[in-house]
Amino acid sequence: MGESNVGMQGQGRVIPVADLRYQAALPRIPDQLPAPGHWPQLLRDTRQRRLHDLRISVTDRCNFRCTYCMPKSVFDKDYAFLPQSSLLSFEEITRVARLFAACGVEKIRLTGGEPLLRKHLEKLIEMLAALRTPDGQPLDLTLTTNGSVLPRKVQALKAAGLKRITVSLDSLDDSRFRAMNDVDFPVADVLKGIDAAHNAGLTPLKINMVVKKGLNDQDVVPMARHFKGSGHIVRFIEFMDVGASNGWRMDDVMPSAAIVARINEAYPLEPIDPNYQGEVAERWRYKDGSGEIGVISSVTQAFCGTCSRARLSTEGKLFTCLFAQQGHDLRGLLRGGYSDAQIVAALGLIWGERSDRYSEIRTAETAALRKVEMSYIGG
Ligand code: SF4
Repeated sequence: MGESNVGMQGQGRVIPVADLRYQAALPRIPDQLPAPGHWPQLLRDTRQRRLHDLRISVTDRCNFRCTYCMPKSVFDKDYAFLPQSSLLSFEEITRVARLFAACGVEKIRLTGGEPLLRKHLEKLIEMLAALRTPDGQPLDLTLTTNGSVLPRKVQALKAAGLKRITVSLDSLDDSRFRAMNDVDFPVADVLKGIDAAHNAGLTPLKINMVVKKGLNDQDVVPMARHFKGSGHIVRFIEFMDVGASNGWRMDDVMPSAAIVARINEAYPLEPIDPNYQGEVAERWRYKDGSGEIGVISSVTQAFCGTCSRARLSTEGKLFTCLFAQQGHDLRGLLRGGYSDAQIVAALGLIWGERSDRYSEIRTAETAALRKVEMSYIGG
């Protein structure tokens, strides 16, 4: 990480410059508010992309230090995580989710940091599971976890109304996985979490593997082999220049095309259609009918054209792109006594003016920009 990317504070401690910049302006409220019963049920941005998915980060803390997300060099013992008081309460999160659902959101993904570290998370899930879309449908409620505490939480999550789950697992090679999570956490315990989630019925279960060339790309085929025929869907994710801390280089990216080619050599694959427009992963199924995989190719095959995702940080800042540099302070509206109609109107302005397309314009220069940390707004 270049010198220009860090700020120094007493005793020479490194502060990720990103922290110095999470200012977010209070959203503008248009004079014209939507009349009761006439709220916009579908929001589209400047590229006609509808708002469909809301990713909610419920904590900026994690018990792992994955080198491509929360490297220890930055997220060390002195790192200033957000104070409890600044986090959105479950009631505030549910209010935001209710207003987003009224405006067309159909899918909510809970993220972090590690979301299962947020105390009593099942209470929030219960509140979100009770929400409905304008036509009375429940939301598609899912969660991404590192699986570390899943075995003892899974029953409560399911009972609270969680529908599905995604577990991150970057290698089946125990020593390599321990090095990548950098807290010496064993593969076996994540596999136990996956089994527990499967047995609890949180299916279809997805497994996310971030592939970094020269680090764990040799584990791609073993990962595919291990879960082939299990019903679980492994998604292979290109290493991305998220945030400002993971030392990203294009040389470390294993293109999805190469990942598919490698698996196809061992287990022939064929492409299949997305489940819905805007789905992040490109789907491939095994020709022998034993299941499917996905690849997420933000670097080599940008999918901004159909991106339908908004992200809410743990302290209520709204980001309209994973690689954003600036957010919108929704918490200021929530705690400032603004009405639902005012917040919906503000959301309409934010999304209506959205033009994000970072992956389409990525360069070595943009990769060095100080962008929001993934551990802060979720993947
Ligand atoms: S780079 Fe931004 S706009 Fe493009 S797909 Fe990712 S989150 Fe969406």
